[in-house]
Amino acid sequence: KKGFDFTLLVAGESGLGKSTLVNSLFLTDLHKDRKLLNAEERISQTVEITKHTVDIEEKGVKLKLTIVDTPGFGDAVNNTACWRPITDYIDQQFEQYFRDESGLNRKNIQDNRVHCCLYFIPPFGHGLHPVDIEFMKALQDKVNVVPLIAKADCLTPFEIKKLKERVREEIDKYGIKIYQFPHCDSDEDEEFKQQDKELKESTPFAVIGSNTVVEARGHRVRGRVYPWGIVEVENPSHCDFVKLRTMLIRTHMHDLKDITSDCHYENYRAQCIQNMTRCEHDKTYTWSQKKLRRMQQMLQKMQQQMHEQEL
Ligand code: GDP
Repeated sequence: KKGFDFTLLVAGESGLGKSTLVNSLFLTDLHKDRKLLNAEERISQTVEITKHTVDIEEKGVKLKLTIVDTPGFGDAVNNTACWRPITDYIDQQFEQYFRDESGLNRKNIQDNRVHCCLYFIPPFGHGLHPVDIEFMKALQDKVNVVPLIAKADCLTPFEIKKLKERVREEIDKYGIKIYQFPHCDSDEDEEFKQQDKELKESTPFAVIGSNTVVEARGHRVRGRVYPWGIVEVENPSHCDFVKLRTMLIRTHMHDLKDITSDCHYENYRAQCIQNMTRCEHDKTYTWSQKKLRRMQQMLQKMQQQMHEQEL
């Protein structure tokens, strides 16, 4: 079996645990040799996009997973249009696909389009920050945005519940289009329906990441050790990590890919074709204008000659 390609992009302020979460999700170390920048470098730093590919196998299905990490956002003093490098990156992948699709080797196109963006919302504060709203709005028509509450271990279960409600309200209020889980058919089995209901109610997923394996209740688990106890990444009563992982690579991967292809890419493609037609139209228009002007000049000359002859 050839397996699948899937591209996931992580975005959100620096330091919210993006690399750690990806690490926990797919057991890869994204930044083995990341160097910390000094203050001067940070100020001038632009968003630097890095790409990593991992091969994973999930229930016998091979998966080529590409993770696009966007370190740096929020480090700079001026964060105006800090999403720009990310939207440009997404567009570039669409452009490449569009070119490949119109080329000769259409059967073997490498699909690098971004299928999903995990957007990290800070756990501090009382909901979305203005930059979160702007960021998600800038991405919403280009990619499936899945919002997450980062570092959920900083909050009590009650605080998580409140923050989730608040974020959902604000998403509605500001008209942010996030990835919508598809409707569950009435003939689906009960277990599936229950799973679907839980997924929808858990949005935005509250997540915790960790790079260390610890001993908890006689098992070795990914977790964070605090003086008062251990937070387990994969324990459903501690956070929604397992829900997110299952949704991404098991239950909803195909839907995320379909929406990317049928909706986001189609929009891009339609826009491209429209621009190309307009260009053609403009060219024809300029050509006709020139021809008309030449004819007018000729006519003027003839009229002048006739006038001179009459005299
Ligand atoms: P990034 O800049 O968004 O990629 O963030 P990193 O993954 O580099 O994490 C920044 C810091 O937050 C590190 O010190 C991590 O150990 C810590 N961290 C990561 N995930 C979590 C989490 O879920 N909870 C808590 N409390 N800290 C975390």
